[in-house]
Amino acid sequence: MGLEERLPDGIILTTAEKVINWGRTKSMWPFGFGLACCAIEMISTFSPKYDMARFGMEVMRASPRQADLMIVAGRVSNKMAPVLKRLYEQMPNPKWVIAMGACASCGGVFNNYAILQGVDKIVPVDIYVPGCPPRPEQLIDGIVKLHELVKQSKIKESEKKTA
Ligand code: SF4
Repeated sequence: MGLEERLPDGIILTTAEKVINWGRTKSMWPFGFGLACCAIEMISTFSPKYDMARFGMEVMRASPRQADLMIVAGRVSNKMAPVLKRLYEQMPNPKWVIAMGACASCGGVFNNYAILQGVDKIVPVDIYVPGCPPRPEQLIDGIVKLHELVKQSKIKESEKKTA
């Protein structure tokens, strides 16, 4: 007979890790890094129509302060890459990155010397959202998938290595 069977109704059993991870998914603080056309779709996602408050995201700011989710929307030029990396490093741990769109994920159609061929060359990416540009629904799908990832993560592994 397990402990659960001895407990009266109304008692919930779980682990601290599960509660903390659940809390993290309900209070993410996005740092919008809009760089090109994909940024317009990212901005739309945070408009009242899509109601990101449903996912615990009331505001998106262009600042690493307090942020734990960087959304890279658009192509990253080699000139912008060191700035993006520095801002990522300024975000407190634990932190996550979504590469939104073909350009942020792999350079898209810009296979040239000026564009970074994927933001994962400089920061670790957790979720890649496909499309050129992805619709707001696709970004929301990426955020929901990230939440699933966070729920399964180990707290001790929340410190990440830079790519
Ligand atoms: S993926 Fe398409 S829409 Fe997004 S930044 Fe690149 S060219 Fe623009």
